[in-house]
Amino acid sequence: ITQHRAARTARPAWQFDTALGERKLCALLKVASLQGFNAQDLPAAQAAAAALLSFAEHTQGQALAHVATLEAARASSLIDLPPATHRNLELTQTLRGEKAPTLLSLIDSCQTGMGSRNLRHWLTHPPRDRAPATARHAAIAALLEHGADPLRAALRAVSDVERITARLALRQVRPRELSGLRATLALLPVLRGTLPDAGAARLIDEAADALQPPPALHALLQSAIADEPAVLLRDGGVIATGHDAELDELRAIGQNCDAFLLDLEVRERQRSGIANLRVQFNRVHGFYIEVTAGQLDKVPADYQRRQTLKNAERFITPELKAFEDKALSAQDRALAREKWLFDQLLEQLQAHLQPLAALARALAALDALAALAERAATLAWCRPRFVPQPCIDITQGRHPVVQARLMETGGPDFIANDCRLDARTRMLVITGPNMGGKSTYMRQVALIVLLASMGSFVPAQACTLGPIDAIHTRIGAADDLVNAQSTFMLEMTEAAAIVHAATPHSLVLMDEIGRGTSTFDGLALAGAIATQLHDRNQAFTLFATHYFELTDFPAKHPRALNMHVSAVEAGHDIVFLHAIEPGPASRSYGVQVARLAGMPATLVRQARATLEALETQQRAGDAQVDLFAAPPEASAAPEPSPVDAALARIDPDALTPREALDALYRLKTLAGRG
Ligand code: ATP
Repeated sequence: ITQHRAARTARPAWQFDTALGERKLCALLKVASLQGFNAQDLPAAQAAAAALLSFAEHTQGQALAHVATLEAARASSLIDLPPATHRNLELTQTLRGEKAPTLLSLIDSCQTGMGSRNLRHWLTHPPRDRAPATARHAAIAALLEHGADPLRAALRAVSDVERITARLALRQVRPRELSGLRATLALLPVLRGTLPDAGAARLIDEAADALQPPPALHALLQSAIADEPAVLLRDGGVIATGHDAELDELRAIGQNCDAFLLDLEVRERQRSGIANLRVQFNRVHGFYIEVTAGQLDKVPADYQRRQTLKNAERFITPELKAFEDKALSAQDRALAREKWLFDQLLEQLQAHLQPLAALARALAALDALAALAERAATLAWCRPRFVPQPCIDITQGRHPVVQARLMETGGPDFIANDCRLDARTRMLVITGPNMGGKSTYMRQVALIVLLASMGSFVPAQACTLGPIDAIHTRIGAADDLVNAQSTFMLEMTEAAAIVHAATPHSLVLMDEIGRGTSTFDGLALAGAIATQLHDRNQAFTLFATHYFELTDFPAKHPRALNMHVSAVEAGHDIVFLHAIEPGPASRSYGVQVARLAGMPATLVRQARATLEALETQQRAGDAQVDLFAAPPEASAAPEPSPVDAALARIDPDALTPREALDALYRLKTLAGRG
């Protein structure tokens, strides 16, 4: 709960009552049974609904009039995305808990809050049934063909109809929201004009139909709400002139005020002979006649003193008092009248909640589809294809978020990679150096599968997918100290959940399983888990590992294949090519990566010497290697790289700024060659 920054309100157990829930839902939806919603045999869900509806009624003080339909979401109808998958794939939150860069932040170029909420729902609730995603693909294709820019431009001016509708139902809507709604209704014909022709895509046609709410609704808002209503009802000026004769009359009294006061001023000046007499109003003291100190002897007898100032006195006359009573009460009555009229209006608008909700859904869908179309065009994504036979076939796939980051920072081009899994090849054992791109590759496959399944185009040249029921990920995470689980315990718990749940239609990412314990334990477990996934689960599995021994696995397991991320050695240095190629990695390059990371040269020399000894020992079955031997002398180490040699020759204290700059350029050139 704390992790999700949510507030928690405990509800009493008795509110979780199945029969009560069924009754409440039936009453809310005005039906005799929940059968029509296919929600009659869900006791636990009905019990939860009872507590939820009671809570909502409690906080809102009323029933939720805008809730008009029910959708039974069964876990079995969605592609399972466990919390670990959410987290590891950074779908809506980065591992550090930030909102960007994530998959959602990358794809959400929506113009409205409704669109963004809809897109998030699509991303986090991908259905197993391929029909909804296929329909979205068709709509995106139609928008791309027709051009989505005019639609997106029109959506920019649309207000949040979904939120306004809910607030209207709860009678919490503000005057400006209603004028915003009116502006949106006026915009609908323009919006419709930006859509592809009827028949291009079913989802677009359905949305177009919903963009025509009853004309009576628009007319009502137009006649009732002022052009630019006040922010708050209590300030007045919300109801339009001409909507209500009584209100207009009350307002007229207030507006005639100025003329009356001018007239009175002229008359009183004449009567009293005080040339600088003024008739004025302020909120605290109301109306008064002000006379400066020098003129007080001329004040007529019927003037009553109201207030004394330093240089003046303020008076009131019976005539002015009578006017004040009338004006102030007219103002009060106008405000009361406006409040009453506004309530009446809200009452009348209740009849239009259903078409408004349908309009909100249509706008949200169009916005989300237009955003996906824009992303597809901008990022050169392709339309995926679904087939009934099991496969994940991706040509030239990219990790969309890593690629975007490389592009933003002006880094090297992202290297695209294929993925071919089918009934005969279900597991890829992926080896290669750290930093080589294994994690990126595995995640990109999962993200492409997810994007396709939610109905988006995908970052690839081509993509064909069979049925998918879940995406499981086991990727090294930080210690879960809050829940008092060690890294290794967490690793095993997550892996156990996966081997229990994965089916032949599941995609499983296993990154470096077994790393949290000693080498032999870890290797043994990794081997056993790979076997289980291959033989029993038969899930589509991407298995990245540093255990070189596991590259023997495919030889004995027909549905597994070795792949590696390529890297080339240049002297002691290593250059990552980020290309996924068939076969096992030739070695693991850990020492080179440590060197790149800036480990001291002696330390690297010691590690390299130990590594060589270990490798020789393994080949010859030799005696024990001393892991902790002193590092060999520098001279015993192989030749330093050209960059190292050049660096060694530089004496920073002896350089002029100019020479220092030259040296920097030389070093960069040398490094570039490595
Ligand atoms: P480790 O085993 O240490 O986790 P890894 O092999 O999983 O390493 P990644 O974390 O996937 O490596 O990649 C390291 C970095 O390499 C990424 O942050 C990215 O900048 C770059 N990279 C990875 N894949 C590619 C690619 N296909 N094209 C370009 N750059 C890439």
